[in-house]
Amino acid sequence: MSGGLKVGVLGGGQLGRMLALAGAPLGASVRCYDEAADACAGPVAGLEAGAWTDAGRLEAFARGVDVVTYEFENVPVESVRVVARHAPVWPPIEALRIGQDRLEEKTLFGRLGIGVPTFAAVSSRGELDDGLRRTGLPAVLKTRRGGYDGKGQAVIRGAADVDGAWAAVGAGRVPLIVEAMVPFERELSVVAARGRDGAVACYPLTQNEHRGGILRQSVAPAAGLTPALQEAGESIARRIMGELGYVGVLAVELFEVGGVLLANEIAPRVHNSGHWTMDAGCVSQFEQHLRAVAGLGLGETRPRGVAGMVNLIGAAPALAELTAWPWARVHLYGKPARAGRKLGHVNVLAADEAELAERIRPIRAAADAAAR
Ligand code: AMP
Repeated sequence: MSGGLKVGVLGGGQLGRMLALAGAPLGASVRCYDEAADACAGPVAGLEAGAWTDAGRLEAFARGVDVVTYEFENVPVESVRVVARHAPVWPPIEALRIGQDRLEEKTLFGRLGIGVPTFAAVSSRGELDDGLRRTGLPAVLKTRRGGYDGKGQAVIRGAADVDGAWAAVGAGRVPLIVEAMVPFERELSVVAARGRDGAVACYPLTQNEHRGGILRQSVAPAAGLTPALQEAGESIARRIMGELGYVGVLAVELFEVGGVLLANEIAPRVHNSGHWTMDAGCVSQFEQHLRAVAGLGLGETRPRGVAGMVNLIGAAPALAELTAWPWARVHLYGKPARAGRKLGHVNVLAADEAELAERIRPIRAAADAAAR
């Protein structure tokens, strides 16, 4: 291992892989810890395969690095506590704990005066009926924990959907939350970073398009982004990071409705909606996260143009097809194809929104065709 900075990452998926790639120019080596011996960070990072319950292995992992962070938000909090006895851990464990529970997240937003869809905790069928009276219809019933990419969710549009939704999310076997379904104009996210010295840097708000609960495409800056909207998004990120004594990159997923931002959830880590930063002429979110957790200065967050990202989901077009577009910056994660799985993404930088749309269109079509 080099004599440079050594960063331990809990989780070894594509986010760990891209953290490792971003670390190389800084002379930093990244070592990931994952339950899977074939985790996709392996080929570009060190990879320690072990159970989250293997305290001895976690301790040895922590002792071998200068700082530990995470790329997977469902790392058991107890495992992180074990690690934290032997190495500094950033972002704070409290941010991970809150980010694992939709009720805790929304309660935090409310406490900080951040707009949030009307919500209620649900642990019984009776509480669901009570909750729906508060939220009105349509509503979304979600598991509080463990859900991602739209999994563990059911939409309730009318009274006839309630029983089916209740059954679909486990009939109360796990704690639930019901939320008003927001008639949003668009989905946005703010990807922000806070250094150990409290300095904050935010990327421009990103406009995100989901299908089936999975992010398909991001564009940054969001179309027609005004300074006031940017400031509103940054203020949300600042309040959360300040409250938590946060260090590292944080993403907040937002709904824009009637010009107002409502917070949906946080990711206490680098985030799919920030992947465009890798090829936009600014410091990428991955480098930014490494800088923050290592106590280094934060870098430039302004893109050099208008940036876009298309996710490759389920199946990826052939590399030769993607590289036929000279502006396509291809990032493949080396994962076997599987329905609904994020296999890679393509970044595009353009001079303006019209050129970006033109450049994204064929890539999006190829990604959709491969996934069919
Ligand atoms: P989540 O796992 O909470 O990020 O939800 C996945 C996607 O489902 C979001 O990106 C939205 O497109 C949609 N969604 C989730 N919650 C709501 C809501 N309360 N209102 C409207 N759409 C929602």
